[in-house]
Amino acid sequence: MDKEALRHLPRTDALLDHPILRDSGLPRWVLRRAARQSVDQFRALLLSGKRSTAPTLAEGAALALRLARQMNRPTLRPVINGTGVVLHTNLGRAPISHRAAMAATAAAERWSTLEYNVEEGTRGSRQTAVSRLLCSLTGAEGALVVNNNAAAVLLMLSVVGCGKKVAISRGELVEIGGSFRVPDIMARSGASLLEVGATNKTHLSDYRRAIETQEAKVLLKVHTSNFQVVGFTAAVSLAELARLAKEKEVPLLYDMGSGGLYPHPALPAGPTAAEALSAGADIVCFSGDKLLGGPQAGILLGRRDLIAAMSGDPLARALRPGKLALAALEETLLAWRDPEGAAELPVLSMLGAKPEALERQAREGAAILMPVCGQRCALTVEPVSGPVGGGSMPGVSLPGWAVSLRPHTVSVEALEEFFRRWETPIVGRIHRDALLLDARTVRSQDWAVIAAALEACLSEARPG
Ligand SMILES: *Cc1c(COP(=O)(O)O)cnc(C)c1O
Repeated sequence: MDKEALRHLPRTDALLDHPILRDSGLPRWVLRRAARQSVDQFRALLLSGKRSTAPTLAEGAALALRLARQMNRPTLRPVINGTGVVLHTNLGRAPISHRAAMAATAAAERWSTLEYNVEEGTRGSRQTAVSRLLCSLTGAEGALVVNNNAAAVLLMLSVVGCGKKVAISRGELVEIGGSFRVPDIMARSGASLLEVGATNKTHLSDYRRAIETQEAKVLLKVHTSNFQVVGFTAAVSLAELARLAKEKEVPLLYDMGSGGLYPHPALPAGPTAAEALSAGADIVCFSGDKLLGGPQAGILLGRRDLIAAMSGDPLARALRPGKLALAALEETLLAWRDPEGAAELPVLSMLGAKPEALERQAREGAAILMPVCGQRCALTVEPVSGPVGGGSMPGVSLPGWAVSLRPHTVSVEALEEFFRRWETPIVGRIHRDALLLDARTVRSQDWAVIAAALEACLSEARPG
């Protein structure tokens, strides 16, 4: 180790005086911490022998600036989604419409009519607007919005099922990610679980027996949204279950998971809220940020008396939605008032995109990346198919198109990592030694950002 080199490490104060730090506009405390880290990192390199000469002031300042930018940016920030998965749970599920985002911004930055009735000058309910829209869009008697669908399931079981036996098919005892398992939620709600049928087959007679001989007082159906049981299977339809529930005068609760409000050409076949209600479910619940295309929310629809009981429960206060979500949800529901408006919601427009349009978008992206590739990277445009995500429509694979990158100067894994660590992270998917960027979820303005990251990677710059 060269003691001389250590002595020539730049001083923190000297780095802070360097114009690129001084004029960076970053907070002083961030710069100071970053300058110290820069010196520490170079010292460690010298001590380990990975480097033999002290960095110049400019090198030290450049590293400090990069560290300062990293420190100063939020961890939760936008991502370019190249996976093609529209409802990507790890990437925040549904992107909401611009109008919905603007409504949330306005509600966030200013005071609002959240719980104020301007006609009467009296206190109002934060539920009024969304509840009215939900009822008129689906024909529901009543509606209630809570924090998310897990909260909706908890509330409906707590209020309708507490102290009672709730019958559910063994094939529907699902885990929906992380720690949300139907049996656990059931236990928390005070309802007791009565499993009926077998994992692969449940018949109407199983439910009938549960009511007639095992004192089931509530029926629960859960949409198995993130897996499919294939092969020798039987499940009871919602309509059959509803007829039994009516005959026996027990409420039928349906956790639909995801769904649009009504059938829409952009949505592949599947249950919608309006259909579930007309099939006879007493309460239907689903997420706001899946196929509905709105913010995180749990939506409960159905019988007036049950909705009123849930609204009045103390738990409803603990699970209530925030004003930002309500503002965005109202705009999203306004878009659903006509099918054309709904088609313009980002989720529906991406899911409904025709393969020809996606191929065109992929080729437009390729045209932007091609000049960057040169001899350094192979680029092709390929047909792909992928899932919808977010526990929506399991087994459905949507045909689309992607830009495929095979770099020659670095490994495909290195490119994937470089993209992921970019200022605006770019998340793609590796398939057969190529990095795929799916045109379904890459927005047209994203390609220029991808081009800049690709150039930086291929010329072996380090990610910022
Ligand atoms: C997604 C899902 C949930 C959980 O919804 P969140 O809005 O994430 O709380 C519950 N049940 C089913 C069937 C689901 O698909």
